[in-house]
Amino acid sequence: MHCPFCHNPDSRVVDTRIADDGASIRRRRECTACKKRFTTLETSSFQVVKRSGVVEPFSRNKVVAGVLRACQGRPVTDDQLAVLAQQVEEQLRSTGVSNVSSEEVGKAILPFLRELDEIAYLRFASVYRAFNTLEDFETEIATLRDRAREQAKPKRSRARTRTHDSTIPTLLDE
Ligand SMILES: [Zn+2]
Repeated sequence: MHCPFCHNPDSRVVDTRIADDGASIRRRRECTACKKRFTTLETSSFQVVKRSGVVEPFSRNKVVAGVLRACQGRPVTDDQLAVLAQQVEEQLRSTGVSNVSSEEVGKAILPFLRELDEIAYLRFASVYRAFNTLEDFETEIATLRDRAREQAKPKRSRARTRTHDSTIPTLLDE
């Protein structure tokens, strides 16, 4: 880019730093002509295409804003929402595409929100997936119940393994 002071097209990098938890790179540059210094910020181009066709840069704040209403009155903290937004961003970036639709962002939010709070998840899913009938809710709740049952299983089997572990003395051995 051109020097912001004299518009000379050449500059030399004097310092490079990772910024924003690795999401961007900050470079300190020195103009080869006027020797003044300026900073550039590099981020991978990662944008969201809205339903209206408008393209805007991905924003973690928008993810948080998007789930905030669903989390109303739920025991979900701002920190947890910040982590969720980061997970959603990492998940979407890991696909390697530079453009995602707002639907894909919503879809990426769902599994992380489900881990965080099932009620907030249900509220968000009802809007995002446009639940129209009670049956839609019933199906989703049934899926949540199945998942809860599935998750309970490996925990029990882990506990069993532990009691059979020879390094852990148990009362049954005595
Ligand atoms: Zn210059």
